[in-house]
Amino acid sequence: MSTESKNEQKRILTGDRPTGKLHLGHYVGSLQNRVELQDKYETFLIIADVQALTTNFDRPEQLSNDVRQVARDYLAAGIDPEKTTIFVQSMVPEIAELTIFYSMIITVNQLRHNPTIKSEAEQYGYREMTYGFLGYPVSQAADITFCRANLVPVGEDQIPHIEQTRKIVRKFNNMYGDIFPEPEALISKFPRLMGLDGKSKMSKSLNNAIFLSDSAEEVTEKIRQAKTDPARIHKDDPGHPEVCTVYHYHQAFNQSAAAEIASQCRAGKIGCVGCKKLLAEKLNEFLAPMHNRREKYLAKPELVDQILLAGTEKARQEAAKTMAKVRSAMKINYF
Ligand code: ATP
Ligand code: MG
Repeated sequence: MSTESKNEQKRILTGDRPTGKLHLGHYVGSLQNRVELQDKYETFLIIADVQALTTNFDRPEQLSNDVRQVARDYLAAGIDPEKTTIFVQSMVPEIAELTIFYSMIITVNQLRHNPTIKSEAEQYGYREMTYGFLGYPVSQAADITFCRANLVPVGEDQIPHIEQTRKIVRKFNNMYGDIFPEPEALISKFPRLMGLDGKSKMSKSLNNAIFLSDSAEEVTEKIRQAKTDPARIHKDDPGHPEVCTVYHYHQAFNQSAAAEIASQCRAGKIGCVGCKKLLAEKLNEFLAPMHNRREKYLAKPELVDQILLAGTEKARQEAAKTMAKVRSAMKINYF
């Protein structure tokens, strides 16, 4: 479907911080929705390198690789650059400008009370937060609105940020006139995929992830070591799939067989070794076409760069249109 025939009124903006390889949590939490919706909505995908600096400002040498890594993961997962605009945040300076304007209409207390900021600060061990880290939801509001997006497919941790974006938009529109649509979060069926440790959500930084680029051997080995029902010692002990990470993954990636696996586990008819083997096979089947697509882009790295440059150019055109409206509404177009 061409961009022209898509509903021009409806846009998607979402993205990721380039802080490493994308994992299964990204896929079920957001990427899958993006791939499905790129036919229906005009889609913008941001590689948020400035936001990556909020936690990685002391490791700038990693950015250039990580930006390309995320782009390859998108393309491997089925994002089609003909349908979706993939762009680099730092190369659209209008986003930084909009962030400054928004920072006038949100209070420090509103930012401090954001539960995701609180839990991430704890995860990173920050006793004190930088201004940039505390304020990254403001910059995210600018990411979402610079292209006047309507829908934001994200995981559960992003709900407070989208709420803050909506507040900023309402306040801005009330003060300066109707410039922006109020964006909505689109939460997937698996808004929080657990990590292999069975304790926290799967995350790049927690060493508990299966990456979309993991080889079949890596996947099989990670699943072999995954936590299962701790009460189950022998194969014929009745299992409790509801507390088992491996079952959680069957639900996400082996949906048609999940109910049957759960009843066999409860009856002690399938052991953890067999259950893990089934899952690893299923996951490897699912990842194989992604590996094929990734190979193509690894062989031609210039293709990825071209896609990013063209996408960024298109994003800048949108940004220029929005900022012209914003400056005129804010009466800072003096000459
Ligand atoms: P980091 O550890 O660097 O914060 P991350 O793995 O948490 O990385 P983000 O870049 O913070 O990933 O998240 C990008 C998007 O993926 C967000 O929409 C987020 O909600 C979603 N997401 C990340 N992890 C998961 C998960 N385990 N389950 C569902 N969605 C997820
Ligand atoms: Mg995160």
